[in-house]
Amino acid sequence: MIERLWAGWRAAYVGGHAAAVDCVMCVLAAAPDDDEALVIARGAHAFVVCNAYPYTSGHVMVVVDRHEGNLEHLTPGEATEVMGLVQWTTAAVKRAYRPDGVNVGINLGAAAGAGVPGHLHVHVVPRWDADTNFMTTVAETRVLPEALPDTLARLRASWEH
Ligand SMILES: [Zn+2]
Repeated sequence: MIERLWAGWRAAYVGGHAAAVDCVMCVLAAAPDDDEALVIARGAHAFVVCNAYPYTSGHVMVVVDRHEGNLEHLTPGEATEVMGLVQWTTAAVKRAYRPDGVNVGINLGAAAGAGVPGHLHVHVVPRWDADTNFMTTVAETRVLPEALPDTLARLRASWEH
C-alpha cells in the first residue's frame, strides 16, 4: 500500500504543481529528503508530516501538496486522499501513543487560528485525560514533547503497510 502511495507521489511530482516559495507547506511538499523534512508518508495529492511545533507528542499534520488554502477548492481527488490520510494517521497515532482521545482539526483563515492560512493542512493531535487542565493550571510549566525524530520513527513504525 505504502509503495503504491509513493509511486503516485513521484508521478504527481514529475507532473508538477504550483508552489509558493515563501510557504513552509510548499517547501515540505517539495522537500527532497523526507527524514530531514520529518515527512511520515506521502500520497498522490497530500502528505503526512510531524508538526515542528507540536502541542503534544505525536502532533502531526496532513497537508495537501498544492498551495491551496480553501477547503471548498480542493479537487474531489485531493479531498478524498486528505481524509484517507487523516484516517491512517489517526490509526497510527492511536497505535503509537495510546491516547485517551484525538483532536482532528482544520483552521481555515488566520482569524480561525491558521498559522499558514494559504495552504490547507489538517492537525491530528493525540490527547490524554486532563492534559489541558495540567497545562493551564501549571502555566509556567511547559510540557516538553518528545524529540521530533523520535515522533517520526514512532509513527512510521506504526503506519500500517
Ligand atoms: Zn503552500
